[in-house]
Amino acid sequence: MSKLLVANWKLNPQTQKVAIALAKKIDFKGVVVAPPFPFIEEVGKILKRAELGAQDSFWEDEGADTGEVSPKMLKSIGVKYVILGHSERRRILKETDAMINKKVLNVLEEGMKVILCVGELKRDLGFKNKDLRIAKNYINKQLQDDLKGIQKLQITNYQLLVAYEPVWAIGTGRNDLPEDALEMIMCIKKILNSKFKIQNSRVLYGGSVNSKNIVDYMKHKDIDGALVGGASVNAEEFRKIVEKSN
Ligand code: PEP
Repeated sequence: MSKLLVANWKLNPQTQKVAIALAKKIDFKGVVVAPPFPFIEEVGKILKRAELGAQDSFWEDEGADTGEVSPKMLKSIGVKYVILGHSERRRILKETDAMINKKVLNVLEEGMKVILCVGELKRDLGFKNKDLRIAKNYINKQLQDDLKGIQKLQITNYQLLVAYEPVWAIGTGRNDLPEDALEMIMCIKKILNSKFKIQNSRVLYGGSVNSKNIVDYMKHKDIDGALVGGASVNAEEFRKIVEKSN
């Protein structure tokens, strides 16, 4: 299976015109484009090869929930993937694992794919110390809490993706050592398999990925792709990342 590259545009760009121009330049096979909510529909109309993603969704389908967006709404405009539990939402908006769990269940029930973000807050580089155990325990707890109850759903192959995103590596330029990321990703796959009976999962790496370091991650067959933030709003840089990934 080829690598998946997710372009998480975060709170960028500022206008629909710029969003459409950017989307046209990064419309490649094997890419998921996740624009801010107001641009999703128009971006979806111009994508021919890339698939459409959203950066969040709410756990209710309708009702008195001012400002929220439901999975049903997203599905109705062609969204295929929803990013949930991003560390920026956990930190800035105080999203808890219980909230993320409800969101995960709702998106899966709607039949869309979830990209669940997990990652420890800090760690020393080089997994030769006790940080390895601490980070694995942290991620194990996030997975247990965020995925509670998914065993009861009939989820299809590859419907659940996880992005391993060490929080200290996001937007900092301090990308993880590829071998450390691989070790964490193998641990995530093992947990998904043993605790949730999910054999067909795809686990991505995220955290300061760019065109210079992408090959070091993608050369490992068990790293199934990358979630790219900052570099995904630079069309030329993202094109190089895609080119070097497969
Ligand atoms: C992200 O948005 O999840 C991310 C990994 O950002 P960046 O690539 O900028 O570190």
